[in-house]
Amino acid sequence: MRVLLVEDDPMLGAAVCQALRDAAYAVDWLQDGRTASSALTRHDFEMVLLDLGLPHRDGLDLLRSLRVSGDSTPVIVVTARDALEQRIEGLDAGADDYIVKPFAVIELLARMRALSRRRVGSGVPLLGNGVLTLDPASKVATVEGNEHALSAREFALLRELLVRPGTVLSRAELEERIYGWGEEIESNVVEYIIHSLRRKLGADCIRNVRGLGWMVPKATAQEDAGA
Ligand code: CA
Repeated sequence: MRVLLVEDDPMLGAAVCQALRDAAYAVDWLQDGRTASSALTRHDFEMVLLDLGLPHRDGLDLLRSLRVSGDSTPVIVVTARDALEQRIEGLDAGADDYIVKPFAVIELLARMRALSRRRVGSGVPLLGNGVLTLDPASKVATVEGNEHALSAREFALLRELLVRPGTVLSRAELEERIYGWGEEIESNVVEYIIHSLRRKLGADCIRNVRGLGWMVPKATAQEDAGA
């Protein structure tokens, strides 16, 4: 899942960036409002973490124009502006959530998971397709009652497939979703991660669609209904 972090404080930005990468997010970090605004028009992000006090363009102004342009990318405002009026102003400008500095990174991560759930229209914390379930909080995958701990990359890749069962994602699409800008992508990394997931979870858990990419099957009941 690709996240844009907009934060001009170098220490805080570096710390959040690292924490998000450790939690298997692909993070792009920008430090001013103008660059962030231009990045948002050119790239798709699944979530934005937005500081408000930013050089060149205020975060609130950026958020308002994002919403006016019809962009509904989920935004969590991350700021030191903690007055009640400011929190209300931020939410009314189109923020989906608001977290006040200083904050615990584990709370930010939990809020991101909660926002992702609302995004896919599910209040249920687990992702799954009836055969396989994945817990985004613990990164544990369960198949036929057996739990398997996943590495950060394995989790990130499986998550991308499981939020859209039945949809084929190409190697390039998977790489884009699990790597941030400037992160070196090793060749065949997607094949390597899929190989490793299949060894843990069973060969049928991820299907290869020759020449196109990979998918996880839709739930069996849905397949039967469609047949
Ligand atoms: Ca700031």
